[in-house]
Amino acid sequence: MLRRSRRAAILVAGLVAFGLACAAYSLNRRSHDAAALEDAGRTLHRLISQRVDQHDAHLTSLSALVQAAEPAPIATVEQVAASIVRFYPRIVGIDVVDLAPIPPRSLLDTADPAVVAEEARQAVGSNLRTRALDGGKLLLVKRALTDGVGHYALALVIDMDRLSASDTPLPDRVAAHLRLIEQGKATAEPPPAFSADIASRTQPLRLTLTTSAPDWPLPPPGFLALAGLLVALAIFLVDRLLEARSAAREAARKAVLAEQDARLAHAGRVNAMGELASGIAHELTQPLTAILGQAQAGRRLLAQPDADQAVLAGAFEAIARNARRAGDILGRLRAWISKSEPQVENVDLTELAGEVVHLLAANAQSTGARLRVGGDGSRPLVRADRVQLEQVVFNLARNGLEAVEGRDGERSVTIEVGMQGNDAVLAVRDSGPGLSPEAQARLFEPFFTTKPAGLGLGLALCVRLVERFDGTLVAENAADGGAVFSVRLPRIAGEAHQEAAE
Ligand code: ADP
Repeated sequence: MLRRSRRAAILVAGLVAFGLACAAYSLNRRSHDAAALEDAGRTLHRLISQRVDQHDAHLTSLSALVQAAEPAPIATVEQVAASIVRFYPRIVGIDVVDLAPIPPRSLLDTADPAVVAEEARQAVGSNLRTRALDGGKLLLVKRALTDGVGHYALALVIDMDRLSASDTPLPDRVAAHLRLIEQGKATAEPPPAFSADIASRTQPLRLTLTTSAPDWPLPPPGFLALAGLLVALAIFLVDRLLEARSAAREAARKAVLAEQDARLAHAGRVNAMGELASGIAHELTQPLTAILGQAQAGRRLLAQPDADQAVLAGAFEAIARNARRAGDILGRLRAWISKSEPQVENVDLTELAGEVVHLLAANAQSTGARLRVGGDGSRPLVRADRVQLEQVVFNLARNGLEAVEGRDGERSVTIEVGMQGNDAVLAVRDSGPGLSPEAQARLFEPFFTTKPAGLGLGLALCVRLVERFDGTLVAENAADGGAVFSVRLPRIAGEAHQEAAE
């Protein structure tokens, strides 16, 4: 659950990062495009301003030529006009209109003499007049004055598109527009991306740039793919990192728990020693008595001059066997209270059940109960710490013995070992009163006990120890009475050999 919500949070963070990357791209692209457009506008504006100045210069020089003689030297003017038109393709016509005749007469036949005359008449002094013509043309008219009287008007016809054309291409999706600023004529156009008036006294022109690029440009597929890939990679890495961190934390937590459990388990075993002491003393009495008897018999034999060597050897043999038996009892005890580090190894469950029966034999006897190993005769092997697992079975069997204590009728506790599929099952079955409903609900809670001197830690510890070895512990009441506690552990392939238990 925690992992799922963590993943969802990482995913959301990743999507936000992806969105931010796209927004950053758009923002950057937008400001870059705006700067490029501004740059292109300024450059074009400078270029057009220079060109416009050239128109003034052409008209001034042509005007000077026209005034050079009376009548004006039209042939020369025509030659100059032809060379100007050749050099400056945006100037598509140059004309000289004689205003004296009615109607006025075009001398070079490139402009409408009536229109030129109309403009020329409004030109005060050497004023220059501008007029927009159809087809994107601009007409410039200047009156040439000879002795204060001018009956010639000079006309320049300019192609506006060429006037605003440049060798430097405009940015993508940007278009330039040049138009005459006409007094009192408002235009209802959307605000252009760039607008600047040409700084010319004679030719009031306005340059505007418009763009069809979207306000917020979408990142190109390559960028989207790369950003998506990087974000996916980051999500993956962060997830792995957090996963590894929480796994490390979990491992550390488990290690602490394991350490605590091991201590608790050891304390439990040392505690059980008290209960076992009388049983052990009783168990030791047998071999020690036997040793004493055999030793006394041996001494008597040795006192006889013709002592039978074979009988003597038999006595010594019996002494050695009983000493080994006593040593085994003490060895088992030492192992039981040893505080060794937990060590996972292959454990033969049947052998382990036998050990527990040995340990509790005296308790069983004093309870008047029959404690034995049963089951289907199989010898499953499991991976576990032998001492800890033995403690689990010990606790369960001891609880069983306590349950049958003082019962009328049969008093028995059986440790059944068997296999179910890939699991090994060890069940401790007793003929006691079974589990009360309250006990059944709270059995594995720490400190739950119904015994006057009980601690209520035995089963809680058992569950933890079994789970450590990937197993489960369940308790139920048997149909024919009594309680059954079943430990289920994954078993490893194969079975223990018979000798292992001997
Ligand atoms: P303690 O033995 O100190 O009480 P446990 O955790 O071993 O602590 O057991 C908790 C309780 O579970 C016992 O007090 C008892 O009421 C109940 N219980 C355990 N084993 C048996 C059993 N075999 N039959 C009936 N009740 C049991």
